[in-house]
Amino acid sequence: MSFDTLGLIEPLTRALTAAGYTEPTSVQAEAIPAALAGKDLMVSSRTGSGKTASFILPALTLVMKAREQQRAAAPQQAQQPRENREQRNDGPRQYTKPRGPRVLVLCPTRELAMQVSKAAMDYGRYVPGLSVATIVGGVPYPAQLKALRGPLDILIATPGRLIDHLGAGKAVLENIEMLVLDEADRMLDMGFIDDIHHIAQSTPEKRQTVMFSATFSGATGGLAKQLLREPQRIDVASHTDTHADIEQRLHWADDFGHKNALLDHILTGREVDQALVFTSTQRDAEVLADRLAEMGHAVEALHGGMPQGRRNRVLQNLRSKRLRVLVATDVAARGIDVPTISHVINFGLPMKEEDYVHRIGRTGRAGRTGLAVTLAEKRDFGMIQRIQRFTTQRMPVATITGLEPKRAEPKPLTPRPGFGVGKPAGKTFGPRPFGAKPFKPAGKSFAKKPGPRPER
Ligand code: AMP
Repeated sequence: MSFDTLGLIEPLTRALTAAGYTEPTSVQAEAIPAALAGKDLMVSSRTGSGKTASFILPALTLVMKAREQQRAAAPQQAQQPRENREQRNDGPRQYTKPRGPRVLVLCPTRELAMQVSKAAMDYGRYVPGLSVATIVGGVPYPAQLKALRGPLDILIATPGRLIDHLGAGKAVLENIEMLVLDEADRMLDMGFIDDIHHIAQSTPEKRQTVMFSATFSGATGGLAKQLLREPQRIDVASHTDTHADIEQRLHWADDFGHKNALLDHILTGREVDQALVFTSTQRDAEVLADRLAEMGHAVEALHGGMPQGRRNRVLQNLRSKRLRVLVATDVAARGIDVPTISHVINFGLPMKEEDYVHRIGRTGRAGRTGLAVTLAEKRDFGMIQRIQRFTTQRMPVATITGLEPKRAEPKPLTPRPGFGVGKPAGKTFGPRPFGAKPFKPAGKSFAKKPGPRPER
């Protein structure tokens, strides 16, 4: 199948050829024709599948077609008496209300928003005068205000900052024809539900809405019901994907020192083009990046606590290959699209199972293969099991010669008859087996133990 068969116009197919893409990915083949037909869509597709192009290409098509219609209407307009004409640049200078963009893309994080903007500019490189603005938190307001005032085709934003501009009356959303929610599940996880509703209500009801999410269960499904009209469901891949391009390995470490030794060994390997090392907290990311820098690695940390300017510089350094190792947290790494990342290393485990899938999706991109290595201690056993249940795949256990663990590999305990696991709460007698959930009497709520602070 080629891109021409999807109904894309020439400037876009030319940009795709320039990018070296010969055929659409599965999600593109399904989503592009449906989006071009004006349908509302619910799309489940993993990162790395080419999902950005599957909404940006229809968005660019919409922008170009609208311009053509405007141009066709222009001669008729010119024949009308001047007072009936729309405000034009050649008339006396008057304040004109900004028209506002035709397309709005909402993204959970700044990094993802920047990535989408870059894709819009890349795929739209042959669209004359294309105007794309990115509105994200952590950067100064004046440049954003200027962008919002100007003629604008596509607006890409994180919900929080867009709400600020809406509240101040600086963002005009009344001309939106297409609303895209990228990684909707993640936006809900981050607490953006009210912001999303508020933003959607500020756009015309007759808009087209396209929603991308790893899952459409629970709150995400509820949001889809509220925002979409007779949506077409496209389910290209799920978290149970086999990730054929990504080899997964699990190394058991006896203790923290052993985990560091394993990491050092892997990072000095020649086969590492670029490595993305994940930690659980911002602090861990900084400490580890400092240690690796002392060892002579070209490394930097990336986390949500860093100012946006610095985060951009770090990402730029990663893309230009000035960095070989990036130590990052989940939130900051979301949306990183650097095809030369050959290794993802989980030094600290994620807080949530689905983050594991997002992490490993940073490698094995754009037709390359990647290696995802997880370094785990015995106390991580529960999370490893949860990840394996979530992905429905086993992480094959591996060892490195000379660095084999001395401790035996943790194994799930088989419950002895009559002891706890699987029995209804309240009917358990005797000691609780290791790893079993504590007995919870009905009607009483137990406060969760504070874990490491999630990064926002
Ligand atoms: P995404 O899932 O949107 O993050 O895209 C993953 C990667 O695939 C990006 O590096 C894209 O530039 C690349 N890509 C997108 N579409 C294609 C295609 N049709 N053929 C090859 N690579 C693609």
